[in-house]
Amino acid sequence: MTENTTPSFSTKAIHAGQEPDARTGAVIPPLHMSSTYKQDGVGGFRSGYEYSRSANPTRDALQAQLAAIEGGAHAFSFASGLAAEDALLRALTAPGDTILLGNDAYGGTFRLINAVFGQWGVKHFAVDLTDTSTAADAIAAHRPKVVWVETPTNPLLNVVDIRETARLAREAGAILVVDNTFATPYLQNPISQGADIVVHSVTKYLGGHSDVVGGALILADDTHAEAIGYMQNAAGAVSSPFDAWLTMRGIKTLAVRVKQHSENAAALAAALTDHPKVETVLYPGLESHPGHAVAARQMREGMFGGMMSIQVAGGREAARTLVDSTKVFTLAESLGGIESLIEYPYDMTHASVQGTDLEVPANLVRLSVGIEDVEDLLADLTQALDRI
Ligand SMILES: *Cc1c(COP(=O)(O)O)cnc(C)c1O
Repeated sequence: MTENTTPSFSTKAIHAGQEPDARTGAVIPPLHMSSTYKQDGVGGFRSGYEYSRSANPTRDALQAQLAAIEGGAHAFSFASGLAAEDALLRALTAPGDTILLGNDAYGGTFRLINAVFGQWGVKHFAVDLTDTSTAADAIAAHRPKVVWVETPTNPLLNVVDIRETARLAREAGAILVVDNTFATPYLQNPISQGADIVVHSVTKYLGGHSDVVGGALILADDTHAEAIGYMQNAAGAVSSPFDAWLTMRGIKTLAVRVKQHSENAAALAAALTDHPKVETVLYPGLESHPGHAVAARQMREGMFGGMMSIQVAGGREAARTLVDSTKVFTLAESLGGIESLIEYPYDMTHASVQGTDLEVPANLVRLSVGIEDVEDLLADLTQALDRI
């Protein structure tokens, strides 16, 4: 053993929560497809298991793995990213409370906060959190219970300074939530930078293979563990054992995948910057990106992830032609899988924010850059751009 006994990222991703099965030695923890557990006399639970909404060994294994890779004290796994967000907000807000969020938050997050929680008397304000003085003013003016940060954002790839926002939230007694879906825990650990709670849509990079829908909350410490654990069981939007098992399998290869996603995206971003049909490339790895310096500081060295958006010359028609013309990039919502996806946020993922302050530009195309061979990806985008 060396002096440094803290395991590094992939060692945790591969081993945390993954004890070989006690009875058989199976190296992969079994998939416990059981809704209930035999009791040895009333209340005689074996290892505490009673009913699978409350606890399931496969879900527990995933939760241990999630807590380890985000550097948190607790993790809770849910049936979707939005189910996780819903449980968090129900557990920690009450009528009259205010949520402060970025003005380009994920459309589904905004819809949940605006349309669902709004009805129950939880208020919200959406401001530009990339500007820390705007964030400071908004926190002072609205005294929010929760500050909700996404970085990089979906789909505009804006970057918020987590450390600085955490400091402002802490001074105001607010809970800082960071949606870390785009960056992944391999590239960025918000808890180490002051966040109280990390949210993931594990549907995306953690699952990584476009075959599972899931969500997670990772908590920095014990403060909110009881309230969120209670809500996970009381409202019951838990992940199924099979979804938990698939997510664990995905997480074990997260680092190698994200390295390749980042390398491919960086190469495409550089190549597309010079294309005559491309007005702007939004990718935090580009030095021209307004959030580049902050991203370089708070993300893993030299890597900026696999997500990028481009704004094309020619507006809505041109953007729609582009997304209809690719052959390797598949036209689909979602992101973070090994295969490259292309989509038109204005009418697809972000249709729910049309007409609100969060509406996205009509010439925007979002790319989830996969881990295929990058020369094929570039050739595909080039032939599709030529059709505009
Ligand atoms: C997809 C997504 C969500 C919602 O997750 P689901 O698993 O679709 O419910 C939340 N935040 C971000 C940034 C996302 O991309």
